[in-house]
This record gives sequence, structure tokens and C-alpha cells, in this order.
Amino acid sequence: MKVLVLNCGSSSLKYQMLDMSDESVMARGLVERIGIEGTLLKHRRMADNQTYVDEIPANNHSESIKEVLHILTSPAYGVLSDLTEIDAVGHRFVNAGEHFSSSVIVNNEVLKTLETLTDFAPLHNPASISGIRACMEMMPDVPMVAVFDTAFHQTMPAESYIYPIPYEYYEKYRIRRYGFHGTSHKYIAKRAAAMLKRDISDLKLLTCHLGNGASITAIRNGKVFDTSMGFTPLAGLAMGTRCGNIDPSIILYIAEKEGLSIDEVDKIMNTQSGILGISGISPDFRDVEKAAAEGDERAKLALQVYVHRVKAYVGGYIALMNGVDAIVFTAGVGENDISMRSRICKNLYNLGIMLDEEKNAVRRSAAIISDEDSRVKVLYVPTNEELMIARDAVTLIMHGTDKYKMDWKPVVID
Ligand code: ADP
Repeated sequence: MKVLVLNCGSSSLKYQMLDMSDESVMARGLVERIGIEGTLLKHRRMADNQTYVDEIPANNHSESIKEVLHILTSPAYGVLSDLTEIDAVGHRFVNAGEHFSSSVIVNNEVLKTLETLTDFAPLHNPASISGIRACMEMMPDVPMVAVFDTAFHQTMPAESYIYPIPYEYYEKYRIRRYGFHGTSHKYIAKRAAAMLKRDISDLKLLTCHLGNGASITAIRNGKVFDTSMGFTPLAGLAMGTRCGNIDPSIILYIAEKEGLSIDEVDKIMNTQSGILGISGISPDFRDVEKAAAEGDERAKLALQVYVHRVKAYVGGYIALMNGVDAIVFTAGVGENDISMRSRICKNLYNLGIMLDEEKNAVRRSAAIISDEDSRVKVLYVPTNEELMIARDAVTLIMHGTDKYKMDWKPVVID
């Protein structure tokens, strides 16, 4: 089975073409600057590393997808003889609110529901919808599967997702914690359970997705117990450019002092805060760590604030779950930043967490990096959201053959 996975961002489109007979990636790529002058397609065929990088005539996601399908079937760079080889398209969808707690095959009814959800992720959801529509038009006989960042987190108990604001706002507007990066948290939790040779339903896990965006999830018996992102992906940890949790009054205070609209302050909290905001250098941890090593005080402070926040969540979630069996790191920082993992795990021995610095420093694809005597295991596992999306698509199609157009029923994927 061959599955195309599409991840539509506000001005980008990432894709992977997977052969699910062995879960290998046939081709992958990225369209950047969609809707801006100089839209760029970067494509690579994996078998022979044949790459294509050039501007493309695309003004929106739909036209970009057309270009992607074109290159996937081109003799020079492609991996398919024609589009009928594609068995399913898996679409990443950021926020499904409370509507979907598992992946679904998209029919008209589902599409209508998804279209009511644009408010929940105004930059991402409309892009994903236009991606789904474009694929439906170009491949009318191919099932479309939507996989939601929020789905895994729908298992959270109410005490974790209800905010202490008037309850009517939950009832009227569904304002609650949704949580994000769910596909990644689920994937690494399953991988970690396999590496530990344990059943996920017997484990208490903390999964730390530390990338440009960052979130920590507490998983008890295979279900999300709590997660650091909230109603939006702005909440929780300090991130590359996002502030994470702050006193909400700061928004109003800055708006008044600087004469800014709430939208303008919101933009500052999303794009000019976090590690970039404190350091004034970069949202990229490599730049900030280099500056800190050279003695830059604000770079040092940015990293200290970051670590402080992560530790506070680790401790808090251990308290909430009454213990933890393993802590799992993933994403750009979590997978690659040896010194950050070391700083986060430092002085946590009272919680039973002891890192083996030598194991931590060796780069492997995935590893258990805690000391033999550490009560809590520490691991790093590369995330693979695309593979998870493709797996869900395959599972749904196997369960839902010929039903996806007319008689849609939600199929729950474990
Ligand atoms: P996202 O998917 O949220 O854009 P990623 O998971 O790709 O983010 O993470 C990107 C971030 O990972 C970069 O901004 C950078 O800060 C960090 N990163 C990547 N490699 C390293 C490294 N070797 N050391 C430290 N940080 C790294």
C-alpha cells in the first residue's frame, strides 16, 4: 500500500510518499512560501537521492499540491507511474476540538464538520481543509484520512482540561485544554513501551516533545492524563518563539503600555517571545547555546528559564500521576541536544531520575540513557508523525473499504 502524507502549515506544505509494505519513505519534500512571492518546492527521491529545488507557479495550497503530485509522477524525480498507485492520502489536521478522538476517513459529513473548526486553529485548519479538498478533486477515488494533533489528548480527564474560568465559556465556546503534538506523543510512547519491553497500559510515562514548539504529556496506562499545551499551542513550556504559560494580565498590561491591539500582543507572544524573546538572539537552541557558551548572559538566562519550566512540568506531572516509569525525549531539541537533556535531568535524583552522561552523549537512533540504578528510565526516541499518520490511514482503509464515501463510521484506532 502506498500512502501520501500531507502536512499543511499556514504557508508551507510538507509531504512524504510512503511504501507501507516495509514502511519506507519513497520521496519527501516541502513547499515553502505558499501565498508569498518565490514559492519554492524542495523534493527528494530517497532511492537515489535525486533532488529538485526550484520555484513553482503556485499561489495557494491547492496549486502547490498539484505541483507535488506532478513531481511525484515525473520520470526524472518521481516514484509513481501515475496517481492511481496512491492508496490513501493522510492529512495532518491540527485541532479537531472535541469532534474527533481518533483518525477518520473524510467523507462529506466529516468535511463539513472540519470546516466548522477553522476558529480553533485559524492558521492551520483552513490550510489542511484546502489540502483535503484539492486532493479530493485530483484523486476522487482515493480515500482521504484526517489525523488530528488533538485526538490522543481527548482521553484526558475533565480535571486536566477544564480551565478555572466561568464554566459557561466551556459550554458556549468549548474553551478547554486540547493539547497538541498528539500524534508525536502517541508514537514515542508506543516506541518507548516497546523499547522497555513493557505493555503501555501498565506504564506511567512523561513524553517530552521539545522542538521549536514544545509540549510535555503525562500518559497513564496508555491514556493522556495531562499535557502542557492548552486551548492553543501557545500554552505551557517556553518555546523557540512562544511564551508558554504567563500571567494572562500581562497581555492587557503590555497592550495598554505599548498602545497595541490584543492581536498585536498575541503575535508578540507567538513569534517574538520564548528563547528568542529572552535571549534577543535566535529561536534556534544551537545559536542560543553557542552564545551562552561564549558568555552571553541573556542567552544563559533563556536556557535557564527553559530548563526551569521543563523541570516544573516533570515534577508536577510526577506528583499528579503518583510516580513515573520513564521520561522520553523527542523532536529537534529532545533528540539532538545532549546538553539540554543533561540539564533537564540534573538534580532530579530525589525523584528517582539519574542520567548516564556517557550513554546520553552517544548519538544513536534511539536509546535508553538513564543510569543502571535510575528508578525512572530516561530515553530518547526520534518522532515520526508522518509514519503514524500513514499507519492510521492504512488501518482505517483496511477497516473501511468501500465505506468511506457513503457510510462513514468512526473507526477507533488504538
Ligand atoms: P518544529 O517541528 O517544531 O519546527 P523541530 O522538532 O524540527 O521543530 O525542532 C527544531 C529545533 O530543534 C530547532 O529550532 C533547534 O532549536 C533545535 N535543534 C535541532 N538540532 C539541534 C541540535 N543539534 N542541538 C540543539 N538544538 C537543536
